[in-house]
Amino acid sequence: MSAGKSKPESHGQAADWEATKKRALEYGFCIRCASQYAWGVQGGFSTVQQPCPDCAPLVASLPRERVNGWRSVNGASPAAKNWPVAPTLALPRTPGASPSGIGARKAAR
Ligand SMILES: [Zn+2]
Repeated sequence: MSAGKSKPESHGQAADWEATKKRALEYGFCIRCASQYAWGVQGGFSTVQQPCPDCAPLVASLPRERVNGWRSVNGASPAAKNWPVAPTLALPRTPGASPSGIGARKAAR
């Protein structure tokens, strides 16, 4: 493996990188940290930048300890099932608010 920060070389790696980054974004990571996370998953967390202060609490909610201030999910990072419920999505909503958003999310699965 080369130590460069160029794009992953194979199509499979590139697809995994994109999927991991997308999943991290959906979890609530900023674009920078989502990219760093995807790099870390693929090339090791010792070579990426530490999570930013905004994302640090989200990173801390992941189960698997890594280096450089990072944590990750167990198993394959692109797989949605391996991610905990995003804290940003689990925040309590206003009581009595319309549940249509939740219903729509379930229906979309
Ligand atoms: Zn961030």
